[in-house]
Amino acid sequence: MSNLKTLALNYLDQAQPALNDIAIDIWHHPEIGLQEKYASQRLADVLAEEGFEVETGVGQMPTAFMASWGEGGPTIGILGEYDALPGLSQQVCADKAPVVNGGPGHGCGHNLFGTASMGAAIALRRAMQATKTPGKVVFYGCPAEETLVGKTFMARAGVFNQLDAALAWHPANVNTVSLAGSSLAMNSFKVNFYGMAAHAGAMPHMGRSALDGCMLMDVGVNYLREHVVPEARIHSVITSGGGAPNVVPAYAQIWYFVRAPKRHQVAEIYARVLDIAKGAALMSGTTYDVEFLTGCYELLNNRTIGELMLANMQSLGGIKFDAADYELARKLQASVPAEMRLSDTEMTLKHLAPGTTAQDLGDVLCENVLAPTTHHEVMPGSTEVADVSQITPTGNLVTACFPHGTPGHSWQLTAAVGSGIGLKGMMLATQTMALTAADLISDAATLAKAKAEFSLATGGRTYVTPLPDGAFPH
Ligand SMILES: [Zn+2]
Repeated sequence: MSNLKTLALNYLDQAQPALNDIAIDIWHHPEIGLQEKYASQRLADVLAEEGFEVETGVGQMPTAFMASWGEGGPTIGILGEYDALPGLSQQVCADKAPVVNGGPGHGCGHNLFGTASMGAAIALRRAMQATKTPGKVVFYGCPAEETLVGKTFMARAGVFNQLDAALAWHPANVNTVSLAGSSLAMNSFKVNFYGMAAHAGAMPHMGRSALDGCMLMDVGVNYLREHVVPEARIHSVITSGGGAPNVVPAYAQIWYFVRAPKRHQVAEIYARVLDIAKGAALMSGTTYDVEFLTGCYELLNNRTIGELMLANMQSLGGIKFDAADYELARKLQASVPAEMRLSDTEMTLKHLAPGTTAQDLGDVLCENVLAPTTHHEVMPGSTEVADVSQITPTGNLVTACFPHGTPGHSWQLTAAVGSGIGLKGMMLATQTMALTAADLISDAATLAKAKAEFSLATGGRTYVTPLPDGAFPH
């Protein structure tokens, strides 16, 4: 192992208790998207103390920041997230027991995500300084991942354009990397209909129903569904539909997600959905406008970086959970119905190399580092890490931070990522990212290979924001 990598690991060994404290502190202060004042400040303060130059308010978001250190040589970005989810407040225990009833909680483990990424950035900076290695390391404090806002608006501001490569990770139930998979591109937007209020019994002829506009629009979208690519997903909720049956609703709102495997497919379906809104307004005698919330691309995993991450994770040898971790994990797992656990195992195995068995996943908790599939699987969700991955070669890894069978965005997950289970997974993630970043900054040939692969995959085209003019983060 190079001196650079040894020094980075030595730092992380010594910093482990402090990193654990930060992750648990952020877990105790859960904040939802764009409100992450505590978490972003906590991480930015540590980075500033470590000599990073901190720039806040990136991409018009007060809780987004960049922390940069170094010069000359390649520029490596490390992405961190720290937003929580509404309604998932939970104590570290195996029964559903919120800390605050109805309050937010870290049901996606982003308390670990931000902290591990920060740890890797600092480890790299310390090792670079000690070895006089040229290069720049940039930690990106990315807010509002859960609403797919943060990185899209940061990307529009151009902050990732300086990068030669980027690294990200996510808490999961296994230890592996992504080589070939992708995710769905998406648009999120609300359509507001405006009609005219009237007494619904006495003078309905005087009224024009905004709710009719929403309903007719959704009927149109239901018919559209058959005539789009089969992998596309269009889902909606009516967020405002009137106040009482005896008042013709003057205002109504419907919120859509349009998803598809490729960005251009989303753009095409979106244009057709807007035509349907126009038709619905015409039919209902109402007017409408569109409030665009956010959009993202499909994920482009860089295989060169993925393979490097896997080799580094394998060299670290996985995770050793202790008796207390297993005790909590068994109880958390028992709270999930057996058939759900089974389907979770099947889904997990789909992302791993053929021949991987349920036994390889480990009993309750995954300690082993597992090889991923090289088959192109499209994850039926979306992430704005995708937008970074369309700008610079990006590698993604996952580590075991919760037991098998834990549903995403659940109270069980909140409990696990606030416990020793999550902290042990976090340590493998921070170490793997530090080692990989050290490789990329010091090994010109591997970085060139990653960039060549990226150029081939993107065909050399430059990133165009999915956001229409005037879109603002909210
Ligand atoms: Zn997440």
